[in-house]
Amino acid sequence: MNFDLKSMTLTQLERKFKDDGFPNYRASQVFEWLHKHTVESFEQMTNLPLKLREELKAKYPLYNCKIVKQQTSALDDTIKFLFSLWDKATVETVLMKYKHGYTLCISTQVGCSRSCAFCATGISGLSRNLLPSEMLSQVYVAQKAKGIKVSNIVLMGMGEPLDNFSNVIKFIDILNSERAQNIGKRNITLSTCGIVPKILELADVQPQVNLSVSLHAPNDELRGKIMPVNALYSLKDLLDACIKHANLTGRRTTFEYALFDNLNDKPEHARELAFLLKGLNCHVNLIPANPVGVKGYKTSKRESVNNFYDELLLEGINVTIRRTLGQDIEASCGQLKRRYMYEI
Ligand code: SAH
Repeated sequence: MNFDLKSMTLTQLERKFKDDGFPNYRASQVFEWLHKHTVESFEQMTNLPLKLREELKAKYPLYNCKIVKQQTSALDDTIKFLFSLWDKATVETVLMKYKHGYTLCISTQVGCSRSCAFCATGISGLSRNLLPSEMLSQVYVAQKAKGIKVSNIVLMGMGEPLDNFSNVIKFIDILNSERAQNIGKRNITLSTCGIVPKILELADVQPQVNLSVSLHAPNDELRGKIMPVNALYSLKDLLDACIKHANLTGRRTTFEYALFDNLNDKPEHARELAFLLKGLNCHVNLIPANPVGVKGYKTSKRESVNNFYDELLLEGINVTIRRTLGQDIEASCGQLKRRYMYEI
């Protein structure tokens, strides 16, 4: 990609326009067209003089993601988009409707390098990071396609957001801007497999963003077997970082725990987890695991999920069971992946 105007914050755009000889107020106008009205071309910026629009068009290319495929779940109206990017790479984005409004689950990378054993995204590795503009475009295009406004964003699609740190931070800042979509940072949740140093950095630069940590096991031995990242950052280091994050931000940490049949879903796992989390300002979100076709990783039985839940509750842990959405269209947690053209 050449030059990416849409990935710039307003301050960066003002600086760029100044360097290129355009007045300051033009930068705010262009910024609002791109991020508030979410137009896809300079032609549509109708309050700019025609000559200027042509000049801008010649100078700065604009890239938008395109919908390749759109699937609606027959079970719950969840919608999964397959987007193609400027270089023909593809990512998936999921739109969910809740009582309080629409939540969009966006991808932050093409693929992922963290190789969690149970997750479809990691199977073919990482191709590249997404640019801020490519994350923004997922929001803009999904909103336009459905004629809705999204109120919550979860960074829980393809990729490890903390491995694409600076682009993710910029994405959040632009999305949150009053002159853009004005989506509150408290309505944005970032989910990570547990990149310890970046969790601390996140507390510093985006303290209002909700942190969700993928735990999935109550001890290092089991976690190490299913999540290679545990070899880099042990559970103790991870929980220490979460405590620091919660202390610095005053926000409650969410722990995601996907339940796999006969692997991590026994009552003793629940008790070990409760012991680990006791006293922490946290909430546990149990995810009945979604099938991704990997051997040895089967969905927990409903009874095991309920028992696990009861056990945590009994130990005084805040816990909920996540409603599974869009499973019939492979839109649920861990089911998103790069698609090849023959699959489309
Ligand atoms: N890389 C980030 C965000 C992407 S995954 C992370 O690891 O948190 C979003 C959530 O789906 C994570 O909690 C992830 O562990 C979970 N997940 C992955 N595969 C799953 C599966 N097969 N069933 C249920 N949840 C899964």
